[in-house]
Amino acid sequence: TAELLRDPALFREQAFVAGHWQDADDGLEIEVDNPATGEVIGTVPACGEAETRRAIEAAEAAWVDWRRQPAGNRAAILEAWHQLILENAIDLALIMTLEQGKPVGEAMGEVTYGASFVKWFAEEARRVAGSIVPAPTADRRILVMKQPVGVAAAITPWNFPIAMITRKVAPALAAGCPIIVKPSELTPYCALALAVLAERAGVPAGILSVVTGDPKAIGAEMTGNLAVRKLSFTGSTGVGRILMAQSAPSIKRLSLELGGNAPFIVFDDADLEQAIAGLMVSKFRNAGQTCVCANRILVQDGIYDRFAAALAEAVGKLVVGDGRAAGVTTGPLINAAAVAKALGHIEDATAHGARVLTGGGAAPQGGRFVTPTVLTEATTAMRLASEETFGPVAPLIRFEDEADAIRIANATPFGLASYFYTNDLGRAFRVGEALEFGMVGLNTGTVSMEMAPFGGIKQSGLGREGGSVGIEEYLELKSFHIAGL
Ligand code: ADP
Repeated sequence: TAELLRDPALFREQAFVAGHWQDADDGLEIEVDNPATGEVIGTVPACGEAETRRAIEAAEAAWVDWRRQPAGNRAAILEAWHQLILENAIDLALIMTLEQGKPVGEAMGEVTYGASFVKWFAEEARRVAGSIVPAPTADRRILVMKQPVGVAAAITPWNFPIAMITRKVAPALAAGCPIIVKPSELTPYCALALAVLAERAGVPAGILSVVTGDPKAIGAEMTGNLAVRKLSFTGSTGVGRILMAQSAPSIKRLSLELGGNAPFIVFDDADLEQAIAGLMVSKFRNAGQTCVCANRILVQDGIYDRFAAALAEAVGKLVVGDGRAAGVTTGPLINAAAVAKALGHIEDATAHGARVLTGGGAAPQGGRFVTPTVLTEATTAMRLASEETFGPVAPLIRFEDEADAIRIANATPFGLASYFYTNDLGRAFRVGEALEFGMVGLNTGTVSMEMAPFGGIKQSGLGREGGSVGIEEYLELKSFHIAGL
């Protein structure tokens, strides 16, 4: 794989622990494959508790100096890292396509998006300011200071192998925290390439570690170790729940970005073309494998048939294939379980009365490819309405009025992203305020960008990433009372 890159050194098959590149202590490895072909592209160390513990100890030791650095020094290192990520974007995108499957153009988009968090938090590093609050007596002053929370740990998913890491690592470093990352075992190479570039940018030894390997063992050490003060996780709600429980004994600070079940509501008065364009991005980006992907598409009666026909036409133009091939818009799903789930949702829906307008099953290429699918006459009783499909399947559920749409949209234990299309100003405010989600897109299919808080309510998680609040997740407040003045 390395020989495909302009800079072969970006393809590392070792973990980066406490400032050293290393194999697993016991020499064991895990294989990583290309979801488009099933071919093994390399191995990474199968690290566990011991390597994780070493990374944590090194982080604790390195923290003493790191937190004392002027914010401008940390910002300068982040700026250098940002620059290096952009300079190596082509290699990073290729690594991403090889291990994750998304088309290279989309992978380039993620590199830029991922880099934007590094830039953003380099800037935010300089703006971590406390405050002085009025005291109750003349002889007292009260200073509210912001200080780094301490050693942080991050567990990240495979669907955005770069952005989900920079969104955690950059604010941690900016705030003055060291951080240990456990990337998904399915996409470790982007994480390791980021570590190569971070080392080149001047991140001191021990401040950033990337530990590959056994999720349970690494997760157990990260949550059980008292030196870790903060855990940031992006992944499924089920695993989030486990990590939250494991973090309970030591009362760790938590940021959890968990599953979603995004409604995408199209009202009769919507601009049809805009709504189709927004849905194509929201639903089919990354072959439908994002936690903010439209999952339940609610379409009002009066526009339903026109919308369905226009959508089927747009979806019919998607090109399924290996993400490295020119013109491909839709890559493979990440693994066989993902394919089984998407196909299962289609089968369950058609068995319960849904109609296939386009697509409808496995793609002719076989393997992990699924044909982008549009289903009409979907209902809330079908599996795809209550489970995240995480695949290129668009079910259209019919509704009658605004109250109906809001009720259906909110009828979920999840609350991450939501979208709606209308040109009625009153309705825009009513629906925007009524949707119980951490993010609402009006007349847009995108809600992820570095300057805005990203995160969910209900069982979609805790905390926010990005925006000016993103760095607060890595800061503690200290009230400093000075009396007897
Ligand atoms: P997804 O459904 O997106 O694969 P997961 O929640 O399974 O989501 O995975 C997200 C991340 O959580 C990955 O890095 C994975 O290795 C990790 N993970 C899975 N199970 C555990 C666990 N028991 N403890 C710690 N990390 C875990």
